[in-house]
Amino acid sequence: MVAAGSELGFGKVFTDRMLFAEWREESGWGVARIQPYQPFSIDPAGMVFHYGQAIFEGLKAYRWQDGRVALFRPDMNARRFNQSADRLCLPPVPEELFVEGIARLVELEREWIPTAPGTSLYIRPVLMGVEAALGIRPADRCWFYVVLSPVGAYYRNGFAPTSIRVEDRYVRAVAGGTGEAKTGANYASSLRAGLKAKEQGFDQVLWLDGKEHRYVDEVGSMNMFFAYGDTIVTAPLSGAILAGITRDSVLSLARELGYRAEERPIEVGELLADIEAGRVTEAFGTGTAAVITPVGRLGYRERTIPVGDGGVGRVTQRLYDTLTGIQSGAVADPFGWLRFVGK
Ligand SMILES: *Cc1c(COP(=O)(O)O)cnc(C)c1O
Repeated sequence: MVAAGSELGFGKVFTDRMLFAEWREESGWGVARIQPYQPFSIDPAGMVFHYGQAIFEGLKAYRWQDGRVALFRPDMNARRFNQSADRLCLPPVPEELFVEGIARLVELEREWIPTAPGTSLYIRPVLMGVEAALGIRPADRCWFYVVLSPVGAYYRNGFAPTSIRVEDRYVRAVAGGTGEAKTGANYASSLRAGLKAKEQGFDQVLWLDGKEHRYVDEVGSMNMFFAYGDTIVTAPLSGAILAGITRDSVLSLARELGYRAEERPIEVGELLADIEAGRVTEAFGTGTAAVITPVGRLGYRERTIPVGDGGVGRVTQRLYDTLTGIQSGAVADPFGWLRFVGK
């Protein structure tokens, strides 16, 4: 079954099969298998339900016009998955099981990958503790699985700028906490501020650091960049920020395209002054789901400030076109970021 692309939305449709493997403390990883997509049966005392010992990843497969199927930097996701696992005391998943398991699953499900421009197959690996016990300690039985979801073009009505609200009360993460791990708990704790932003007419939340509420962290599903003309700036990996693979790719790509790219602390007062004075010319977020999201308006306390002319800036557009071009095969990949599935 191949869906058209435009009606797919994000993460609502899943393919026929899934990858599954079980780990036990006494015996390690069992044999991984590809099985029909199916519900799980987990004991109500399963640890994941009570203490949230779970992590996930997100990456994409693209079906090219010549029929090849490309994964974008899956080795980076494998490594980050194991860094998250380490933080949550979950067992590491062998990199080969992660990457080869995904490649094999995607190959079997290749007919599910939509081909319309901007569409792809979203890949969602999960690792969680399923031991049935209420004691607080790492689970001795864990499940690793991967499901696939064909996703439509993120920008159905063109590449449109979004608005973000700077959150100055709630925090997403603190250095030393779990902000640099891809774990559901970070998302559960972000929902309250997300609702507040929506009520005030903004699309997403821009999180500040958890200690002083002064420095830009990230958006919570995206890392944040600001352009000062031909220089792009993003916050350093402080321990509270998720090390985005799109973030890393944009830093490399920007330098390759002749821009300057800096990682430095971004103080919110200075940032707002720089936006108002026109020194900040563009703002955008980076993440696998939308790749690059232009930001046209920033809300802080009572103020709403347009960034640049409120539209899509030229650096944002160029980075988006080049990165999505590499992913879809329209632009050559000078970095070796693609891994082809199958032959
Ligand atoms: C996944 C995620 C990102 C984006 O990472 P990519 O690897 O670029 O998709 C940014 N912030 C948070 C909190 C995330 O969970």
